[in-house]
Amino acid sequence: MADGFLLRGARLIDPAAERDEQVTVLIRDGVVAAVDPTGAADIGGAIGGAETIDCDGLVLAPGFVDLHTHLREPGGEDRETVASGTRAAALGGYTAVSAMANTEPVADNAAVIQEVLALAADAGFCDVYPVGAITKGLAGESLTEMGEMASNGVRIFSDDGHCVSNARLMRMAMEYSRAFDVVLAQHAQEPALTEDWQMHEGPTSWLLGLAGAPSEAEEMIVSRDLMLARLTGARIHMCHLSSKGSVEMVRGAKSRGIRVTAEVTPHHLTFTDGDLVDYDTNFKVNPPLRSEADREALIEGLADGTIDAVATDHAPHAAQDKEKEFDQAPPGMIGLETALAAVLALVHEGRLTMPRAVEALSTVPARILGTAEHGGPVQAGAVANLTVFDPNADWVAEPPFASLSANSAFIGRALKGRVVHTFYRGVPTVFGGKAVR
Ligand SMILES: [Zn+2]
Repeated sequence: MADGFLLRGARLIDPAAERDEQVTVLIRDGVVAAVDPTGAADIGGAIGGAETIDCDGLVLAPGFVDLHTHLREPGGEDRETVASGTRAAALGGYTAVSAMANTEPVADNAAVIQEVLALAADAGFCDVYPVGAITKGLAGESLTEMGEMASNGVRIFSDDGHCVSNARLMRMAMEYSRAFDVVLAQHAQEPALTEDWQMHEGPTSWLLGLAGAPSEAEEMIVSRDLMLARLTGARIHMCHLSSKGSVEMVRGAKSRGIRVTAEVTPHHLTFTDGDLVDYDTNFKVNPPLRSEADREALIEGLADGTIDAVATDHAPHAAQDKEKEFDQAPPGMIGLETALAAVLALVHEGRLTMPRAVEALSTVPARILGTAEHGGPVQAGAVANLTVFDPNADWVAEPPFASLSANSAFIGRALKGRVVHTFYRGVPTVFGGKAVR
């Protein structure tokens, strides 16, 4: 067995070090042992025994970090498990994912958090950072023991899938969160305006005869939570922004010093409500795909940093559930294995720079999570959580996926850009485009 890996001639994109240059990198004993910009054949004579990997034409980046993954375990193992979901993550170039709390039982106590951590360690595909629920049972009535979960490593709390709609309770959660220096992630959606919704409310929903959820249902919670964050000084994170108005409010709040971060999904960057004309339930997501003007605003917000991170909202559902009538099918799509290609589409179109793409997929989400082991800088001594991808590889997304589910609107779509190798703590989880296990 080789003593480490020598990645030769890759284009290192390392936003944490503001670096974009051709390098050769030696990985050994779980860490980056050396980074050599000259690409010389022999890094100080240290490479003896390392397996050389030709990375000509490939991008080397810090491993991706997903702030928003539904791993479904415990309780939803027919749709995804921690093992299958993290394997899908590795294939997507991820070395860390933040696992949402809406499992069965809900991750609203330390025992469930510890169970997810143990399953992730057994699987060994990437680090999993469990999200703790804000309210017990996601019921929106009483706060969880945030401190107990924080002492088990929880950095982000969220009732995702549900909005914490009670303003008084959200204020209390924000005040409580400050004691533990954790982040509250909100699924912004006013429930009173989104009963029985099927898609974005607008001309297309009227045409298709489907009940709509207006952008305002998201925007009023974004607005409210920005005010509560101003009031409390808490750190808030806005999940899966979908509307132009939300982007504008977050941009304004940041300029006024409110401690807010935000994410956007690959599917909201790619698709619009117009894609629902065939009633394909893979396009039914929560929040819904909105108008082209909204998609444009999301891309601009991502490019200028108003939206900090790309997060997949990877939401596996069983085929028999997605094959139901449109109004009966659950919302959500998987995303870990196609996220990079969706973001690179914007790079290929000249809408996003490659360093900004890597920053939004890795560096910034790692900082939001509060981990120094992901997101770079890629330098000697750093934990070797790395992704190598071919930005120009053409492929078509087709099932089967590593995910146990196949509810993806990207199926059949021509994509450009794919992960070639993923190194998790110095060990390849994906090699030559294939999962190692
Ligand atoms: Zn959500």
